[in-house]
Amino acid sequence: MPDESGLWQHIERTAAGLFADFGFKEIRIPLMERTELFARSIGEDTDIVEKEMYTLSDRGGGQITLRPEATASVVRAYLQNKLYAAEPLQKVYTIGPMFRRERPQKGRYRQFYQINVEVLGSASALVDAQLIFMLMQLMDRLEVGDVSVHLNSLGCPDCRPAYREALLGYIDGRVDVLCGDCRRRRQNNPLRVLDCKVPDCRKAMDTAPAMGDHLCEACRTHFKTCRAVLEQLDVLFEIDNRLVRGLDYYTRTTFEIQTSALGAQSAVAGGGRYDGLMAALGGPPLPATGFAIGLDRLVEIVAQSVPGAADSHQRLPDLFVAALGPQSQQHACLWIAQLADKGVWAEMDFEDRSLKSQMKRADRLGAAWTLIVGERELAEGALVLRNMLTKQQQPVPLETVVPALLEQLRTDAAGHPDST
Ligand code: AMP
Repeated sequence: MPDESGLWQHIERTAAGLFADFGFKEIRIPLMERTELFARSIGEDTDIVEKEMYTLSDRGGGQITLRPEATASVVRAYLQNKLYAAEPLQKVYTIGPMFRRERPQKGRYRQFYQINVEVLGSASALVDAQLIFMLMQLMDRLEVGDVSVHLNSLGCPDCRPAYREALLGYIDGRVDVLCGDCRRRRQNNPLRVLDCKVPDCRKAMDTAPAMGDHLCEACRTHFKTCRAVLEQLDVLFEIDNRLVRGLDYYTRTTFEIQTSALGAQSAVAGGGRYDGLMAALGGPPLPATGFAIGLDRLVEIVAQSVPGAADSHQRLPDLFVAALGPQSQQHACLWIAQLADKGVWAEMDFEDRSLKSQMKRADRLGAAWTLIVGERELAEGALVLRNMLTKQQQPVPLETVVPALLEQLRTDAAGHPDST
């Protein structure tokens, strides 16, 4: 809504500015892709692909899907445009709507917004740490305090199969108490049983084997480096053995930013490494890592944690022109254009209403100044400028009205740094 968009823009600008400070460039990706891309990259056995995609038949044959997330499209664009040929390391971000047919509730929508960040072409644990640091830096710049980092490692195709077996053995001893979804997941995607939200399943998985105890030497070193760098960067984190992505493409570092400010929807952002995805999509076997922030949720948290955040990012008019009569209105229209050209926002009333109702509107809009012009002022060659705060009035010559207004408004802004 128009009253809220100022805060959205502030958050988007803050994010874009921060990402640029870390050398990221924006990439703009399509809203639709071939269904197959999402099925292959997100995974056939996930809730998204099984139940939540908005898929339609293309007239030319085939199926297309409204994007449920951005990573698949970013990777597709990177591969299709062979961005890796000149420079394998690409750092990109994108902001926009995603579509999932979920059960709508507060913080969970069918069209929601994400800020996505991806680093393609590097396997380094330093990149993972840098991404998490950057994400927390964004929370800092937005003055959001109530967030914590949850961190895990998912291992790699070398060490995960043995872990999977250990986990399956554990699950098999508890199948009776698991929910229907988890029994099904047990077959295709046992890691997902770890992050089921059903209380009985959570309890049953409390003492499940942890991936962290099954990492191979290379994965252990990778995870250790990531944690050490986070500590050097003063990023606090918790190890969370239940943080899984559950697909073969996702490897090693995985993380989530959680808050207690949002009730049930506690995840503000999530991400991790997907070293196997490029190869799975038919590209060269290049590693990658990234994260997605839920923008709707972030806006909600900023609005909650920073008092007046929503209002403070609304611009107010610098001036209201109360014009009485058609001739004055035409003058007003011209001055408004000339002022806008100089970066000053002036408003007017296009209906021929009384001075009293125009003054009321000026107040309602929060204009700092009102210029009053009617037939008498035009005839006398002097208009009235009213300071809406002090109620003081001063004359302004008709001949030089625009430069005089600019001068007065600039002096005012210089004298009161908060007043614009
Ligand atoms: P995911 O792509 O599922 O890892 O989600 C990344 C982030 O997007 C989550 O942490 C949420 O903040 C946000 N998100 C995911 N699904 C929704 C939704 N349906 N409505 C609002 N935000 C969402």
